[in-house]
Amino acid sequence: MQLEGIHHISAITGDAPANVDFYARVLGMRLVKKTVNQDDPTVYHLFYADEDGSPGADLTFFEYPGARQGRHGSGMVHTIVFRVASEAALDFWVDRLAGEGIEASRDTGRIVFADPEGLGLEFVVVERPDAPLSARSLDVPAEFALQGFEAVRAYADDWPRSEALLSGPMGLTEIASHDWEARGELRGGRIVFEDSPGRGVPGAGTVHHVAWSIGLGEEEAWQQLIARTGLRPTPVIDRFYFRSVYFREPSGILYELATRGPGFTSDEPKETLGEALSLPPNFEAVRDSVSQKLTPLPDVTQWRPAVTA
Ligand code: ZN
Repeated sequence: MQLEGIHHISAITGDAPANVDFYARVLGMRLVKKTVNQDDPTVYHLFYADEDGSPGADLTFFEYPGARQGRHGSGMVHTIVFRVASEAALDFWVDRLAGEGIEASRDTGRIVFADPEGLGLEFVVVERPDAPLSARSLDVPAEFALQGFEAVRAYADDWPRSEALLSGPMGLTEIASHDWEARGELRGGRIVFEDSPGRGVPGAGTVHHVAWSIGLGEEEAWQQLIARTGLRPTPVIDRFYFRSVYFREPSGILYELATRGPGFTSDEPKETLGEALSLPPNFEAVRDSVSQKLTPLPDVTQWRPAVTA
Protein backbone atom coordinates (compact mmCIF):
# COMPACT_ATOMS: atom_id res chain seq x y z
CA MET A 1 0.00 0.00 0.00
CA GLN A 2 1.25 3.43 -0.84
CA LEU A 3 -0.23 6.90 -1.03
CA GLU A 4 -0.63 8.29 -4.54
CA GLY A 5 -0.21 11.96 -3.72
CA ILE A 6 -3.01 14.30 -2.68
CA HIS A 7 -6.56 13.09 -3.37
CA HIS A 8 -8.48 16.28 -2.57
CA ILE A 9 -8.34 19.34 -0.37
CA SER A 10 -11.39 20.76 1.41
CA ALA A 11 -11.75 24.36 2.49
CA ILE A 12 -14.44 26.72 3.76
CA THR A 13 -16.27 29.49 1.92
CA GLY A 14 -18.63 32.08 3.34
CA ASP A 15 -19.85 33.09 -0.11
CA ALA A 16 -20.72 30.19 -2.42
CA PRO A 17 -21.73 32.27 -5.49
CA ALA A 18 -18.45 34.23 -5.36
CA ASN A 19 -16.58 30.97 -4.78
CA VAL A 20 -18.08 29.46 -7.95
CA ASP A 21 -17.25 32.63 -9.85
CA PHE A 22 -13.63 32.51 -8.76
CA TYR A 23 -12.82 28.82 -9.11
CA ALA A 24 -14.95 27.99 -12.15
CA ARG A 25 -14.79 31.26 -14.11
CA VAL A 26 -11.48 32.88 -13.09
CA LEU A 27 -9.37 29.76 -12.49
CA GLY A 28 -11.16 27.69 -15.12
CA MET A 29 -11.71 24.62 -12.95
CA ARG A 30 -14.69 22.39 -13.63
CA LEU A 31 -17.46 22.27 -11.03
CA VAL A 32 -17.75 18.48 -11.05
CA LYS A 33 -20.17 18.03 -8.18
CA LYS A 34 -22.73 20.27 -6.57
CA THR A 35 -23.96 18.54 -3.46
CA VAL A 36 -24.79 19.34 0.16
CA ASN A 37 -23.00 18.92 3.45
CA GLN A 38 -23.86 15.42 4.70
CA ASP A 39 -24.33 16.86 8.19
CA ASP A 40 -26.41 19.89 7.11
CA PRO A 41 -28.26 19.61 3.78
CA THR A 42 -29.14 23.33 3.72
CA VAL A 43 -25.56 24.25 2.73
CA TYR A 44 -23.45 23.26 -0.24
CA HIS A 45 -20.45 21.09 -0.63
CA LEU A 46 -18.89 22.16 -3.94
CA PHE A 47 -16.22 20.16 -5.79
CA TYR A 48 -13.95 21.69 -8.43
CA ALA A 49 -11.53 19.56 -10.42
CA ASP A 50 -10.18 18.69 -13.84
CA GLU A 51 -12.38 17.55 -16.72
CA ASP A 52 -12.83 14.03 -15.30
CA GLY A 53 -13.12 14.87 -11.61
CA SER A 54 -9.85 13.07 -10.91
CA PRO A 55 -8.22 12.51 -7.54
CA GLY A 56 -5.20 14.81 -7.55
CA ALA A 57 -7.09 17.83 -8.87
CA ASP A 58 -10.13 18.02 -6.62
CA LEU A 59 -10.61 21.12 -4.47
CA THR A 60 -13.80 21.19 -2.43
CA PHE A 61 -15.53 23.88 -0.39
CA PHE A 62 -17.98 23.62 2.46
CA GLU A 63 -20.37 26.56 2.43
CA TYR A 64 -20.92 28.39 5.72
CA PRO A 65 -23.04 31.31 4.49
CA GLY A 66 -21.73 34.62 5.77
CA ALA A 67 -18.86 33.00 7.71
CA ARG A 68 -16.19 35.47 8.71
CA GLN A 69 -12.75 35.14 7.23
CA GLY A 70 -10.55 32.83 9.29
CA ARG A 71 -6.86 33.11 10.05
CA HIS A 72 -4.28 30.49 9.11
CA GLY A 73 -2.40 29.14 12.12
CA SER A 74 -0.86 26.08 13.69
CA GLY A 75 -2.22 22.77 12.56
CA MET A 76 -3.64 24.26 9.38
CA VAL A 77 -2.85 24.09 5.69
CA HIS A 78 -2.46 27.70 4.57
CA THR A 79 -1.56 27.43 0.88
CA ILE A 80 -2.54 25.08 -1.94
CA VAL A 81 0.03 24.60 -4.68
CA PHE A 82 -1.12 23.81 -8.24
CA ARG A 83 1.03 22.77 -11.18
CA VAL A 84 1.08 24.72 -14.43
CA ALA A 85 3.02 23.94 -17.61
CA SER A 86 5.35 26.88 -18.18
CA GLU A 87 6.59 30.34 -17.35
CA ALA A 88 4.24 31.56 -20.10
CA ALA A 89 1.37 30.08 -18.10
CA LEU A 90 2.52 32.04 -15.04
CA ASP A 91 2.54 35.23 -17.18
CA PHE A 92 -1.00 34.48 -18.29
CA TRP A 93 -2.16 34.00 -14.70
CA VAL A 94 -0.50 37.15 -13.39
CA ASP A 95 -2.37 39.14 -16.05
CA ARG A 96 -5.65 37.33 -15.60
CA LEU A 97 -5.59 37.74 -11.82
CA ALA A 98 -4.65 41.42 -12.16
CA GLY A 99 -7.77 41.83 -14.30
CA GLU A 100 -9.74 40.56 -11.31
CA GLY A 101 -8.02 42.96 -8.92
CA ILE A 102 -5.80 40.23 -7.44
CA GLU A 103 -2.10 40.90 -7.20
CA ALA A 104 0.17 37.86 -7.47
CA SER A 105 3.80 37.93 -6.42
CA ARG A 106 6.04 36.48 -9.12
CA ASP A 107 9.21 34.48 -8.70
CA THR A 108 11.10 32.20 -11.05
CA GLY A 109 8.87 29.19 -11.56
CA ARG A 110 6.02 30.31 -9.34
CA ILE A 111 3.40 32.86 -8.40
CA VAL A 112 1.75 33.30 -5.01
CA PHE A 113 -1.55 35.02 -4.24
CA ALA A 114 -4.73 34.58 -2.24
CA ASP A 115 -8.28 33.85 -3.31
CA PRO A 116 -10.97 36.47 -2.52
CA GLU A 117 -11.44 34.99 0.98
CA GLY A 118 -7.74 34.81 1.84
CA LEU A 119 -6.93 31.19 1.00
CA GLY A 120 -3.29 30.96 -0.11
CA LEU A 121 -2.75 29.76 -3.67
CA GLU A 122 0.51 29.09 -5.47
CA PHE A 123 1.06 28.03 -9.08
CA VAL A 124 4.37 26.33 -9.87
CA VAL A 125 6.19 25.05 -12.93
CA VAL A 126 7.62 21.62 -12.08
CA GLU A 127 8.94 18.62 -14.00
CA ARG A 128 6.82 15.62 -13.01
CA PRO A 129 6.04 12.34 -14.74
CA ASP A 130 2.37 12.61 -13.71
CA ALA A 131 -0.43 13.10 -16.21
CA PRO A 132 -1.62 16.74 -16.23
CA LEU A 133 -5.14 17.01 -14.79
CA SER A 134 -6.82 19.97 -16.48
CA ALA A 135 -10.31 21.26 -17.14
CA ARG A 136 -11.58 22.90 -20.30
CA SER A 137 -12.65 26.52 -20.07
CA LEU A 138 -13.63 29.18 -22.60
CA ASP A 139 -11.43 31.78 -20.92
CA VAL A 140 -8.33 29.73 -20.06
CA PRO A 141 -6.35 28.34 -23.01
CA ALA A 142 -5.47 24.65 -22.57
CA GLU A 143 -1.73 25.32 -22.44
CA PHE A 144 -2.18 27.61 -19.43
CA ALA A 145 -4.72 25.53 -17.50
CA LEU A 146 -4.11 24.25 -13.99
CA GLN A 147 -2.73 20.69 -14.02
CA GLY A 148 -3.60 19.37 -10.58
CA PHE A 149 -2.07 19.59 -7.14
CA GLU A 150 1.64 19.70 -6.47
CA ALA A 151 1.60 20.34 -2.71
CA VAL A 152 0.11 21.91 0.35
CA ARG A 153 1.95 24.20 2.74
CA ALA A 154 1.02 23.74 6.39
CA TYR A 155 1.88 25.28 9.74
CA ALA A 156 3.12 22.66 12.18
CA ASP A 157 4.22 22.91 15.81
CA ASP A 158 5.22 19.32 16.49
CA TRP A 159 7.52 18.67 13.53
CA PRO A 160 9.30 15.63 14.98
CA ARG A 161 6.09 13.68 15.53
CA SER A 162 4.39 15.03 12.39
CA GLU A 163 7.38 13.98 10.32
CA ALA A 164 7.80 10.60 12.03
CA LEU A 165 4.23 9.79 11.00
CA LEU A 166 5.01 10.70 7.39
CA SER A 167 8.33 8.86 7.17
CA GLY A 168 7.03 5.80 9.04
CA PRO A 169 3.48 4.55 8.65
CA MET A 170 2.43 6.86 5.82
CA GLY A 171 5.53 6.18 3.71
CA LEU A 172 6.42 9.68 2.50
CA THR A 173 9.96 10.71 1.55
CA GLU A 174 11.66 13.92 2.65
CA ILE A 175 12.90 15.44 -0.62
CA ALA A 176 14.03 18.77 0.88
CA SER A 177 14.09 20.19 4.39
CA HIS A 178 10.61 19.62 5.91
CA ASP A 179 9.29 18.99 2.41
CA TRP A 180 7.67 15.54 2.13
CA GLU A 181 6.52 13.72 -0.96
CA ALA A 182 3.91 10.97 -1.19
CA ARG A 183 4.76 9.33 -4.50
CA GLY A 184 3.06 6.21 -5.75
CA GLU A 185 2.94 4.56 -9.12
CA LEU A 186 0.33 6.97 -10.49
CA ARG A 187 1.07 10.36 -8.96
CA GLY A 188 2.98 12.28 -6.37
CA GLY A 189 2.08 15.13 -4.08
CA ARG A 190 3.83 16.94 -1.24
CA ILE A 191 3.27 18.55 2.13
CA VAL A 192 5.67 21.24 3.28
CA PHE A 193 5.83 22.13 6.97
CA GLU A 194 6.51 25.70 8.01
CA ASP A 195 6.86 27.49 11.35
CA SER A 196 3.52 28.33 12.81
CA PRO A 197 2.62 32.01 13.35
CA GLY A 198 0.45 31.00 16.31
CA ARG A 199 -3.08 29.92 16.78
CA GLY A 200 -5.35 30.00 13.78
CA VAL A 201 -9.04 30.71 13.56
CA PRO A 202 -11.15 28.47 11.34
CA GLY A 203 -13.41 30.38 8.98
CA ALA A 204 -13.89 31.42 5.38
CA GLY A 205 -10.71 31.00 3.35
CA THR A 206 -9.20 28.35 5.62
CA VAL A 207 -8.51 24.72 4.81
CA HIS A 208 -10.53 22.10 6.66
CA HIS A 209 -8.51 19.03 5.69
CA VAL A 210 -6.20 17.48 3.14
CA ALA A 211 -6.94 14.01 1.80
CA TRP A 212 -4.27 11.57 0.63
CA SER A 213 -5.05 9.17 -2.17
CA ILE A 214 -5.42 5.44 -1.44
CA GLY A 215 -6.60 2.49 -3.52
CA LEU A 216 -10.25 1.46 -3.48
CA GLY A 217 -10.38 -1.56 -1.18
CA GLU A 218 -7.40 -0.46 0.94
CA GLU A 219 -9.43 1.71 3.30
CA GLU A 220 -9.84 -0.83 6.13
CA ALA A 221 -6.16 -1.75 6.07
CA TRP A 222 -5.14 1.92 6.20
CA GLN A 223 -7.60 2.55 9.03
CA GLN A 224 -5.99 -0.24 11.06
CA LEU A 225 -2.48 0.92 10.20
CA ILE A 226 -3.20 4.44 11.47
CA ALA A 227 -4.95 3.08 14.59
CA ARG A 228 -1.79 1.12 15.45
CA THR A 229 0.20 4.38 15.58
CA GLY A 230 -1.88 5.51 18.58
CA LEU A 231 -3.67 8.20 16.58
CA ARG A 232 -7.43 7.84 16.57
CA PRO A 233 -8.78 7.42 13.07
CA THR A 234 -12.50 7.39 12.40
CA PRO A 235 -14.05 4.22 11.07
CA VAL A 236 -14.29 4.06 7.27
CA ILE A 237 -17.00 6.54 6.20
CA ASP A 238 -18.84 6.21 2.89
CA ARG A 239 -18.72 9.55 1.09
CA PHE A 240 -20.43 7.98 -1.95
CA TYR A 241 -17.80 9.30 -4.40
CA PHE A 242 -15.04 7.77 -2.26
CA ARG A 243 -14.53 6.05 1.10
CA SER A 244 -12.70 7.92 3.78
CA VAL A 245 -10.83 7.68 7.06
CA TYR A 246 -10.07 10.85 9.01
CA PHE A 247 -7.54 11.53 11.73
CA ARG A 248 -5.66 14.45 13.23
CA GLU A 249 -1.91 14.22 12.82
CA PRO A 250 0.35 15.25 15.74
CA SER A 251 0.51 18.98 14.88
CA GLY A 252 -3.27 19.08 14.57
CA ILE A 253 -3.67 19.02 10.79
CA LEU A 254 -6.77 17.04 9.80
CA TYR A 255 -5.81 14.30 7.34
CA GLU A 256 -8.16 12.14 5.38
CA LEU A 257 -7.34 8.99 3.43
CA ALA A 258 -9.72 8.78 0.48
CA THR A 259 -10.14 6.01 -2.08
CA ARG A 260 -9.68 6.47 -5.81
CA GLY A 261 -13.23 5.63 -6.77
CA PRO A 262 -16.11 4.96 -7.11
CA GLY A 263 -15.82 8.57 -8.37
CA PHE A 264 -18.07 11.44 -9.40
CA THR A 265 -19.78 9.60 -12.26
CA SER A 266 -21.40 7.20 -9.80
CA ASP A 267 -24.58 9.34 -9.73
CA GLU A 268 -24.54 11.45 -12.92
CA PRO A 269 -23.04 11.26 -16.42
CA LYS A 270 -19.59 12.65 -17.11
CA GLU A 271 -20.90 15.10 -19.73
CA THR A 272 -23.04 17.03 -17.24
CA LEU A 273 -21.07 16.59 -14.01
CA GLY A 274 -21.90 19.27 -11.47
CA GLU A 275 -24.78 20.85 -13.38
CA ALA A 276 -27.61 19.35 -11.33
CA LEU A 277 -27.84 19.16 -7.57
CA SER A 278 -26.60 15.75 -6.35
CA LEU A 279 -27.99 14.58 -3.04
CA PRO A 280 -26.91 11.72 -0.78
CA PRO A 281 -29.55 8.95 -0.96
CA ASN A 282 -31.00 9.76 2.47
CA PHE A 283 -31.84 13.33 1.36
CA GLU A 284 -33.50 12.45 -1.96
CA ALA A 285 -36.93 12.33 -0.32
CA VAL A 286 -36.62 15.99 0.72
CA ARG A 287 -35.04 17.26 -2.53
CA ASP A 288 -37.61 20.04 -3.06
CA SER A 289 -37.29 21.57 0.38
CA VAL A 290 -33.49 21.24 0.33
CA SER A 291 -33.27 22.89 -3.10
CA GLN A 292 -35.34 25.85 -1.95
CA LYS A 293 -33.07 26.56 1.01
CA LEU A 294 -29.83 26.56 -0.99
CA THR A 295 -28.18 29.74 -2.24
CA PRO A 296 -28.66 30.27 -6.00
CA LEU A 297 -25.36 29.79 -7.86
CA PRO A 298 -24.09 31.10 -11.21
CA ASP A 299 -24.59 28.83 -14.22
CA VAL A 300 -21.16 27.33 -14.83
CA THR A 301 -21.97 26.11 -18.34
CA GLN A 302 -21.54 29.69 -19.61
CA TRP A 303 -17.75 29.34 -19.04
CA ARG A 304 -17.38 25.90 -20.61
CA PRO A 305 -16.90 24.92 -24.23
CA ALA A 306 -19.83 23.12 -25.81
CA VAL A 307 -19.71 19.36 -25.45
CA THR A 308 -18.34 17.76 -28.59
CA ALA A 309 -19.15 14.22 -29.57
ZN1 ZN B 1 -12.42 15.25 2.32
